[in-house]
Amino acid sequence: MDTVIKLSRSTVEKYLNCPRCCVLDKKHKIKPPSLPFTLNIAVDNLVKNEFDYYRAIQEPHPLFIENNIDAVPFQHKDIDIWRSNFKGIRYKSVEHNYDFGGAVDDVWQKQNGELIVVDVKATSRNNFDWFETFNKYDYAKAYKRQLEMYQWLFRKNGFKVANEAYLLYFNGKKNEKFFNNQLTFDVHIIKLDCSTSWVEEKVLQVLNLLRSDEFPPPSINCEYCNYLKKRWQLSKV
Ligand code: SF4
Repeated sequence: MDTVIKLSRSTVEKYLNCPRCCVLDKKHKIKPPSLPFTLNIAVDNLVKNEFDYYRAIQEPHPLFIENNIDAVPFQHKDIDIWRSNFKGIRYKSVEHNYDFGGAVDDVWQKQNGELIVVDVKATSRNNFDWFETFNKYDYAKAYKRQLEMYQWLFRKNGFKVANEAYLLYFNGKKNEKFFNNQLTFDVHIIKLDCSTSWVEEKVLQVLNLLRSDEFPPPSINCEYCNYLKKRWQLSKV
């Protein structure tokens, strides 16, 4: 019997971008370097506190009213577990022996009972244009896939989930006349029409790869591997 494999949206994302990186991470515990998103974490926390206020009184957040979102923050006994990085919402497949989990930033509930999955992002750009970013950059498409994987997790746990999901984007204004020890933000609510139809198939492909002896080639465009190759060509030390 195969052992249970723990998966997250980043395992699947790595598989989609470079299967080799997925194997390096899951089988050999080797990860590419990454920077902590400390500003993002601070914004996540502040937003969480604000949404929890409206969750407790079951009223729409003012942003919902401004953006015609007919919902309230979802009240559920497991909301803190779902938002915890170390736990998250999980689905365990007995048939395929895996345990998939992901931590959401928030969940809202529409009047018809469907759940809306939400992710909070922080950035600082002069001209914030989501559609341009989405068309130009892979990371923006990965944000949509992240929401789709979380929607899939909620569906697997028996919840009715809306097809739309939201990115709540906080854009730090960097051209203010005075700083005054305060960073101010523009808020952008981005509605995404999502589909979870691809998720299960990709999860099974990841499992097949991880249970095989295959060690896929590196992706050609990856800046990390290209850096390492050039570095080693120059000197082995
Ligand atoms: S090509 Fe990039 S993504 Fe793939 S294994 Fe190398 S570092 Fe990881």
